[in-house]
Amino acid sequence: MTRICSNCEFENQDDYDFCAKCGNPLVGGVRPNNLMLYQPRLNKKAIILSYIVTIFLSWSGFVVALFTKHSSVGIFTFFGFFLPFYLVQSPVRELKKHGYIQLIISVIGVGLSFYMMLH
Ligand SMILES: [Zn+2]
Repeated sequence: MTRICSNCEFENQDDYDFCAKCGNPLVGGVRPNNLMLYQPRLNKKAIILSYIVTIFLSWSGFVVALFTKHSSVGIFTFFGFFLPFYLVQSPVRELKKHGYIQLIISVIGVGLSFYMMLH
């Protein structure tokens, strides 16, 4: 038994899932290449970690100033912008979204840290 390609009518071996001649899927609903390109699996732990790092870096100045009066730590909160700016440049829409959320979080954190430094 052979599988005949619906695209180019090439006769493929029975165990082929994609046409040997044109690459057309021989099984309904399966598309090669596209799955990995457009739906990358997001590592949830990495995303949560990036939030923790962003919050820690950008809010540390404010928190430290709040409890110890050492407000000069605020200068380091600029590092909190690193991850958000990196994520925003991602071609993956989902990562871009997290990048913008983290950008807002870090802007508030850095803003508060600098407010503590200047007052
Ligand atoms: Zn074909």
